[in-house]
Amino acid sequence: DVMLCLSGVEKTYNKGETGEVRVLAGVDLALARGEMVALVAPSGAGKSTLLHIAGLLDTADAGKVEIAGEDMTGLSDRRRTALRRQEVGFVYQFHHLLPEFTALENIVLPQLADGVARKTAEERARGLLDQVGVGARAGHRPSAMSGGEQQRVAFCRALANSPSVLLADEPTGNLDPGTADQVFGALEGLVRDTGLAALIATHNLELAAKMDRVLRLDQGRLVEAG
Ligand code: ADP
Ligand code: ADP
Repeated sequence: DVMLCLSGVEKTYNKGETGEVRVLAGVDLALARGEMVALVAPSGAGKSTLLHIAGLLDTADAGKVEIAGEDMTGLSDRRRTALRRQEVGFVYQFHHLLPEFTALENIVLPQLADGVARKTAEERARGLLDQVGVGARAGHRPSAMSGGEQQRVAFCRALANSPSVLLADEPTGNLDPGTADQVFGALEGLVRDTGLAALIATHNLELAAKMDRVLRLDQGRLVEAG
């Protein structure tokens, strides 16, 4: 059951006077349901570019992106945006929660935008918060929560619309090692339970080693890291 499939994905940026840089030179990747894969790469190697193309925030120059078996190539901007909202969850190093809303509301709002009824949306939000161990924080605003709690809420929000794919860019990069470990455990529980596929960029090699596979972005291609 392949949830995310990239084949021959290429991306070149034109940097003006310095010429062109080929950031992705034929990326192939297949992520199965329930799989967690680490993406490691030095800064500037093209990690964000890869995550953005996989997550339908950006388009490739060549190659194919399939999510849950559906070809995402050649879509209109409008259709790509709609599919991104349904099929992809993003988590970043910083939580980007809306500061004026509670944890619960932060998870409810994307569902309302997606046409889910409020009662259903709240039930799902509570279920997710309980699952990552922050149910008691449902009524708190982000500023009243610890960094680890904020990141757990951000995971719940990313999963609010039941995406097929979760893309994370240094999701624990802002946390101390002990908290990072616990928060990663919460993320792992969510991924295994929901059966989505997760691609997680990280510089934390201990964390990477806990995932199913470690891929390294090298010269614009993905290689299995030992
Ligand atoms: P990483 O996330 O691994 O640090 P990025 O994907 O952000 O790498 O960037 C890879 C390379 O592509 C860098 O050389 C960066 O300067 C370049 N790049 C990224 N986005 C753009 C853009 N919009 N225009 C031109 N160059 C870009
Ligand atoms: P950085 O990796 O540079 O710290 P972020 O991880 O916060 O930055 O975001 C990476 C990029 O993704 C940024 O350029 C941001 O504008 C873009 N981005 C984040 N979320 C969204 C979104 N929901 N829609 C469009 N672009 C987004």
